[in-house]
Amino acid sequence: CFITLEGLDGAGKSTHVQWLVEQLQSRGLPVVSTREPGGSILGEQLRQLVLTQSMDLKTETLLMFAGRCEHLETVIRPALHAGKWVVCDRFTDATYAYQGGGRQLGEDRISALEQWVHADLQPDRTWLFDVPLEVARERLGNSRDLDRFEQEGDAFFERTRHAYHERARKHPQRLHIIDSTVSIEAVRRALLLQIDELVSA
Ligand code: C5P
Repeated sequence: CFITLEGLDGAGKSTHVQWLVEQLQSRGLPVVSTREPGGSILGEQLRQLVLTQSMDLKTETLLMFAGRCEHLETVIRPALHAGKWVVCDRFTDATYAYQGGGRQLGEDRISALEQWVHADLQPDRTWLFDVPLEVARERLGNSRDLDRFEQEGDAFFERTRHAYHERARKHPQRLHIIDSTVSIEAVRRALLLQIDELVSA
């Protein structure tokens, strides 16, 4: 089972990743927890580049997919073939949202790359942690050094959030929106229902 987590920076995704993994493990499931950009040795080096260097939008998008390709071939596919559950913090929906929406590349090029790199594989379930922009901003606050995406203006994040919602509209079976404005406990109750559904499927 392949699970991906998505959402704006500050939506609370990272608060729940480890908890989610523990929930799955406590049900006796073998879990691989990973992330994008990153996830493989080369992927983590690419992450370092894309988060710190400014670059052409096409270069940025290609690097996201280069890292994803490596990640899929060396980590995700082998784990799924071995019968493991894979929990991945961001995946291709993030490229649709950030590069497609935020940076206004649109969907077509991303869709072409998606077809090339993983036409045969989609996440089984994607949780989109959703909060309005003001909430995301407030949570990000001064809590850590912001990477070059997190330093973008409000319009960028509005477009990114809108593109995430478009993804949810297009893929309602796979992509479920988790209202992340509520308390951590309430988010976890919602996630538990979803986990139970997946585990018993
Ligand atoms: O989720 P995490 O904070 O690790 O993501 C790192 C950064 O990469 C985020 O600021 C996110 O905005 C950015 N990103 C991106 N395009 C992607 C994936 C992530 O701009 N396809």
